[in-house]
Amino acid sequence: MPIEFKRYTVVSRFSPPGADGAERVQEIEFRRDPLTGRWSRINIERARRPKQTPSVVTALRELAEKARDTCPFCPERVETSTPTFTLLPYRRLHRGDCWVFPNLYPFSKHHAVTVFTPQHYKPLGTITPEEFKAGINASIEYLNTLKTIDRAACYPVLAWNHLPPAGASIIHPHFQILADERPPSIVSQEIEASEKYAESGGCFWEELLVSEEERGERFVKSGNSVSWITSFSPIGNREVMAIFKGKSSLDGLGPYEVEEFVEGLASLLKYYSESGLESLNMLFYSGPLGDDISRYFYLHARIIARPSPSTLYVNDDGFLEKLCAEPVIDMTPEDLANALKRYMK
Ligand SMILES: [Zn+2]
Repeated sequence: MPIEFKRYTVVSRFSPPGADGAERVQEIEFRRDPLTGRWSRINIERARRPKQTPSVVTALRELAEKARDTCPFCPERVETSTPTFTLLPYRRLHRGDCWVFPNLYPFSKHHAVTVFTPQHYKPLGTITPEEFKAGINASIEYLNTLKTIDRAACYPVLAWNHLPPAGASIIHPHFQILADERPPSIVSQEIEASEKYAESGGCFWEELLVSEEERGERFVKSGNSVSWITSFSPIGNREVMAIFKGKSSLDGLGPYEVEEFVEGLASLLKYYSESGLESLNMLFYSGPLGDDISRYFYLHARIIARPSPSTLYVNDDGFLEKLCAEPVIDMTPEDLANALKRYMK
């Protein structure tokens, strides 16, 4: 069945201050995610609204410098200031400049941290594909070790909160890896909806890629194993999806797929950085480890930009995002795809 990109627009009417009662209109577009039915709202005027707190990236640099002397993830402290595994064949996993060790405050039975660069603070556009590659490969190696000691914890999450506006408590760049006996809620919804979609004969993800490439408006780039699109109904601002064709889980990724992904990721982050965005969240939506469900579900990553650091913290999650799970987005996915094409050729 054809994928339905459902959308409609409403108009909000009011007279802004200084307009002497003259009416202005703003359009709000509602979009429904074609797989899960999740709604989001787009009002591009929001990106232009005045913000009370100016972005101060230099403040972040100063903050980073202050935290350097006690940072547990810096190379001189990582072996004495981080926890160690007790159930695995290694206390910490050490590969090149990468370290994988337990999270000191876990929210999963298996919750690890991957420090993928020895440098305490790196502006977003300067993290290299090699650093990302080493971090993702070490994280996958950790997941493969987990499979040998706890097969039931088969639903992995590989994620990245970068800088405090994205929820990171430590500035030093690091990924987080979780493994649970059930997938997180949205992953679960996506897997179930994909399975249901396949009952009518097709793989949603394969059809999504064909459809988006034909339409072109949200399509950014397609390589041998990874396709990049912007989300029709985003969860967050400047949301980009990397979809791994024919792969359903993180442990199915080989060096070639990782290499292709990190090249795209580095290009995307260059775009973010040159657009004044320094903070982000990234997450891999994975099927179960050791089980190939690529007949109906493809592994994918979502990357969203968060507000830039400022002296007074500005959050982009309000009541609709936190309490209604219905995000308000300030740039159209089509404009984002257009901007990205210059960076991801
Ligand atoms: Zn550090």
